[in-house]
Amino acid sequence: MCGIIGGVCKNNITPILIDGLKRLEYRGYDSAGVVVLGADKQLARARSVGKVVNLEDNITGKKRHLTGAIGIAHTRWATHGEPSSRNAHPHICNNSVSVVHNGIIENFLKLKTQQQKQGYNFTSDTDTEVIAHGIDQALQQDISLLEATQKMLKTLKGAYAIGVVSAKHPEHLIAARSGSVLVIGISKQGNFIASDPMALLDITNNFIYLEEGDIADICLDSISIYDENGKPVERQIKTSKLKPGQISKGDFAHFMHKEIFEQPQAIRDTLESRISKNSVLLAAFGPDSSAVFDKIQQVQIIACGTSYHAGLVAKYWLEDIAKIPCHIEVASEYRYRHPLILDDTLFVTISQSGETADTLEALKTVKKHQPNIHTLSICNSPESSLTRESELVFLTHAGVEIGVASTKAFTTQLVSLALLTVAIGKVKKTLNQAQEALIVDGLSRLPGLIEKTLKQENRIIKLAQTFKNKSNALFLGRGTMHAIAMEGALKLKEIR
Ligand code: GLU
Repeated sequence: MCGIIGGVCKNNITPILIDGLKRLEYRGYDSAGVVVLGADKQLARARSVGKVVNLEDNITGKKRHLTGAIGIAHTRWATHGEPSSRNAHPHICNNSVSVVHNGIIENFLKLKTQQQKQGYNFTSDTDTEVIAHGIDQALQQDISLLEATQKMLKTLKGAYAIGVVSAKHPEHLIAARSGSVLVIGISKQGNFIASDPMALLDITNNFIYLEEGDIADICLDSISIYDENGKPVERQIKTSKLKPGQISKGDFAHFMHKEIFEQPQAIRDTLESRISKNSVLLAAFGPDSSAVFDKIQQVQIIACGTSYHAGLVAKYWLEDIAKIPCHIEVASEYRYRHPLILDDTLFVTISQSGETADTLEALKTVKKHQPNIHTLSICNSPESSLTRESELVFLTHAGVEIGVASTKAFTTQLVSLALLTVAIGKVKKTLNQAQEALIVDGLSRLPGLIEKTLKQENRIIKLAQTFKNKSNALFLGRGTMHAIAMEGALKLKEIR
């Protein structure tokens, strides 16, 4: 869910890893860490809570050198185990195998119990640590790091992008993905991996985008990729036009136009690591989400404008599908009255920026009067006041939204609220597996369907010609479409 960077490099890799982590900071994270395999073939690690600069200070403060040509690094957004340096990645097993992981391992408890019986000692509360131990165990059979990782991955359920290095195989970096994104960057300085090409733009523009289920064995002068059945495959090298830190409207007429077309990718990014083939991964809402969802008896949504409309849609979903009572109110009204709220309420705030003053004030006031209330914010900005004030945080990965009239932020909010509905329904057992699979399938097809719709742009432009001189417009809808009609009307008011 967060950031991975790694590589096999001609020179010392540490500065490249740190620089890459900084480029991934925009995704939000709670801790960061790095492992480097030194010339002495030992794994050296540094981990810190908070910003990447803390990690940098930590490395500079270390007497032993964190230098080497091969390494992996990570920014973590906790799903299992609190944000702390012992839970930060990379995880290491027996000074032999080290792993970074984005995503959620659903069956980690079962694997952990088995591994503990076999004598493995756990040093973190994460789901990730089972991967390190599993690979170490497989390596006892004297097989390659690639084979050991393949063997381990066969036992996993959930979503992952991983980077693996081992002191026993110091020339290799293994990368694999299933449900989470991972790219390989090919540069003059060596071969790298990252969860987002942004992390590598300073050193290369040439990327191989790993496909679902792919695993790659990466060395300084070779990259071998295998598909989910272990068959060797060729994946094309693509040259990216992205430039570091670039925010431009490209060939689009204006930012809103561009952002409308960014919706498919924004939705893919929001779903990434949050769903597996046919289920929603509960931990996507944070380490304590299952316990919280179990306790709550109703949901109160508070938001403004577009986010309020997303919440209005969610009210139908939460009551229809998760069968939980849901109330929704505009933040500017809520904060100026003295609402009565029960302790077993999940107080959900929705805001693109996380700085919407009324929403933030409503949250602060409720927390002041009811310190035991459970809070969740659905937000696009990881570093915002709203996320800092909330117990659970779910980030919409819509990317920067510049257009005043919200587009991709709105649709990713809806996707997030659909995931929340399924997650609560799952915990409350008001939703069966077939219903869950149906919703997850619909969500996975959504980006493709939006792409298809956007291809109709010319027809839409033609239709708009017939409306453009009208002085009034009515948006009509019933049920969830009532909320969508209100959002449509707001959009027209905002841009006219
Ligand atoms: N589930 C892992 C953890 O809680 C990885 C979270 C992430 O993707 O950053 O450590």
